[in-house]
Amino acid sequence: KEEGRKQYRHFNKTLQEKTEKAHLLTQELRLAVINQQFEVLYQPILSISDLKIHKAEALLRWHHPELGMVSPADFIPLAETSGMIIDIGNWVFQQAAEQVKKWQSSYDQHFQISVNRSPAQFQSSVSKHDVIWLNTLLQLSLKHGICIEITEGLLLDDNEEIKETLKKFRSAGVAISLDDFGTGYAALSYLTKFELDYLKIDRAFVMNLESSAQNQALCEAIIVMAHKLGLKVIAEGVETQEQLFILEAAGCDYAQGYFVSKPISHLLFERELASQDPF
Ligand code: C2E
Ligand code: CA
Ligand code: CA
Ligand code: CA
Repeated sequence: KEEGRKQYRHFNKTLQEKTEKAHLLTQELRLAVINQQFEVLYQPILSISDLKIHKAEALLRWHHPELGMVSPADFIPLAETSGMIIDIGNWVFQQAAEQVKKWQSSYDQHFQISVNRSPAQFQSSVSKHDVIWLNTLLQLSLKHGICIEITEGLLLDDNEEIKETLKKFRSAGVAISLDDFGTGYAALSYLTKFELDYLKIDRAFVMNLESSAQNQALCEAIIVMAHKLGLKVIAEGVETQEQLFILEAAGCDYAQGYFVSKPISHLLFERELASQDPF
């Protein structure tokens, strides 16, 4: 009993600590927006057919003056619950849109940058936010070049409003990518109910491809299924040459991961794009 009480106290304390930490971090996050402590990094996405880079994913970084680099895995959830994800997400989108415009005109007219969009950014109360994105695309006359990454959870309840929003973006030339495929829900019916362009196989299926016959079978089946539905496939978290070979043999279209490159600053990315032998 004594043991149990101790454990309970311990649990309670860590829970309290966690809540306090989250609260503090949320306050800091408000300042981060004002004080411009954010940076967008770009991770190259390798086209397996020509071994070139025509795409990148925009990934947000927070440089906190005392805490150093705070991981998006820690602050994105806080940004979502506090509603700050709207302003932060708009900022990321603006950065990515301006960046892709530049890279399209100086390196590759088909260059594309994908931007993550959380379910919180699809709530009807924030549909004004869609207008901001669509206006930015118009102002920069970016007919193509942006891809939005969404997660499976968003598509689960066959929501008409979300369908409409995705349609609006698609008719503005925005591609839609289904992120983290395979980790969320087993329902596959939504794949036919929404118009999607890319499917991203989650890192969990890619990380041990060399040693796991099961994961290899899953990757192969996902690629065949996606192609039959007219989707291109991006494998996430590719860390070794061996994994890339297996994915190539399975007909995968794109690879993203540390084997190609970590997420890097726009300056570094530009240098790579300008060189003869990218990445
Ligand atoms: P995600 O969208 O699944 O992004 C991929 C994550 O995997 C990134 O983590 C990336 O750095 C990491 N990664 C890429 N290649 C490898 C690899 O080979 N091995 C390993 N171990 N990891 C790899 P990151 O940058 O820490 O971002 C974490 C998550 O935070 C993202 O997961 C995304 O859900 C969210 N996020 C990041 N930026 C934004 C943003 O601007 N808006 C929103 N709404 N979410 C964002
Ligand atoms: Ca993503
Ligand atoms: Ca992902
Ligand atoms: Ca993820």
